[in-house]
This record gives sequence, C-alpha cells and structure tokens, in this order.
Amino acid sequence: MITVSHLSKRFANNEVLKEINLNIEQGEVVAIIGPSGSGKSTLLRCLNLLEKPNTGTIQIGTAMLDAKHYSNKEETHLRKQSAMVFQHYNLFKNKTALENITYPLIVGQKIDKKEAKQLGLSLLERVGMLPYATQYPITLSGGQQQRVAIARALAVRPKVLLFDEPTSALDPERVHEVLQVMLQLAKEHITMIIVTHEMEFAKYVADRVIFMADGVIVEQGPAKSIIDNPQNEITQRFLRQLT
Ligand code: ADP
Ligand code: MG
Repeated sequence: MITVSHLSKRFANNEVLKEINLNIEQGEVVAIIGPSGSGKSTLLRCLNLLEKPNTGTIQIGTAMLDAKHYSNKEETHLRKQSAMVFQHYNLFKNKTALENITYPLIVGQKIDKKEAKQLGLSLLERVGMLPYATQYPITLSGGQQQRVAIARALAVRPKVLLFDEPTSALDPERVHEVLQVMLQLAKEHITMIIVTHEMEFAKYVADRVIFMADGVIVEQGPAKSIIDNPQNEITQRFLRQLT
C-alpha cells in the first residue's frame, strides 16, 4: 500500500535520507528505530510532505508522486493519505478536545457541523476521552492530549497513521495509556508507521522493525528477531546501549 523508491533528502550539504526504499502492506505496523539524527523524523515528514524530498517517488494508496516534479493537485492528494501524530501533540490550545477534532473536518473537509460533532464524539470515545470532550488542552495531562491528537489524526480517515515518538514527551506513568490506544488500533489493522524508543512495545505490537542509521535502512525484519537478535553490528551496538 505504501511504496517509497530511492527517496533522498538533504538540508544544505547534509544528506539526511539516502535513497530510501520501503514497502508497507495494508494493515502492517512498522516501527522505526535508530539513533538520534539518523533521519527517522525526516522520513516520516517526507511521506506527509511536511519536508520536501529532493529525489525519489512516494506512493500511498491511490496517490503517487515524483519528488522532482509534481503538481499542487498531486501534493494535496498525497497529503490526504496520511496523518501525523507528533511528540508534542500540537493541539489547538484555544479549542476544546472535541473542537480539535471537528475543526479540521469542518474547515478542511467541508463536513457538516452536526456530522463532524457526531464523528468527533465517537472518536473521543474510541480513545477513552469522551468524558473530556469540552475540556481545553491545558486542563488535560500529556497522555490525554496525545489521545485527543490520535483521535484527530483518525478523523480524516487516513490510509496510514504516522507516529513520531508519540510517548517521548510524556510522564512515565502516562506512557501506558497512549500505547494502549495504539495497540487497539493495531488490532483493528490500521496501517501505522511508528518512530519509537519503546523497544518492548515495538516487539509486542510491530509486525516489522526497521533500524535506521545515518540516513539509510541498515536492517529490517520481524520485530522480535531485529530487537532480540540483530545481525548488523551497528544495530547491535545501538540496542546494547539502550539497556
Ligand atoms: P531523527 O528523527 O532520527 O532524530 P531527524 O530526521 O530529525 O533525525 O534529523 C536527521 C538530520 O537532519 C539531523 O542531522 C538533523 O540535524 C537534520 N535536520 C532535520 N531537520 C532539519 C531542518 N529543518 N533543517 C536542517 N537540518 C535538519
Ligand atoms: Mg526524530
């Protein structure tokens, strides 16, 4: 369902992604791990065109785009295929939990207000946040805000959810509730790409783990075999220093 070919990205002279090739099946959960600065966030951001790749092609669902030359229409179409969940939630501070979900639907997708509210409430229920529908982000814990952010990402019915270290900014006692929601989505066979440092979670939830270093995919395979029995020396060193 997702095919990335020869994707490269540089910032000035810094080549951050080097000819990345990637195939992801519908319903697959893929965890991306690797040292800080290896290009994990940039890869996710390129899939969503939050960063413009320099070369390569990206195909998600029915959208296909060549980084070298694409139209606004192709850009919009590709963007609609995915939704991102960020480390720092990025909720609208002046909107309630419910409005955070309905606003993009009403303004972006021109969905009727009543319908958007129904959808918003059902999504809040799905992430266990229905009782907090009228609360503002500042009155919610980090874990609660992140669950609202996940509901907001789901609202646009993306083909794939992209998570960039969704639990890294949370208090340790709040990590579990967010991972629990993600586990639920995995069970519902929602396609997800998750950049994470939570190795136990990756082992349990991900179908596949990709280890990135220095802008390349060094090693990938079934979660358990990569994390418990990595073959590449760089992967081994990375995982050893985590414990
Ligand atoms: P990771 O998420 O694996 O920690 P990133 O994708 O954030 O890595 O960063 C990869 C490299 O790209 C780093 O060297 C980082 O400094 C650089 N980089 C990321 N974003 C930018 C940017 N907007 N401008 C310049 N350099 C950037
Ligand atoms: Mg990052």
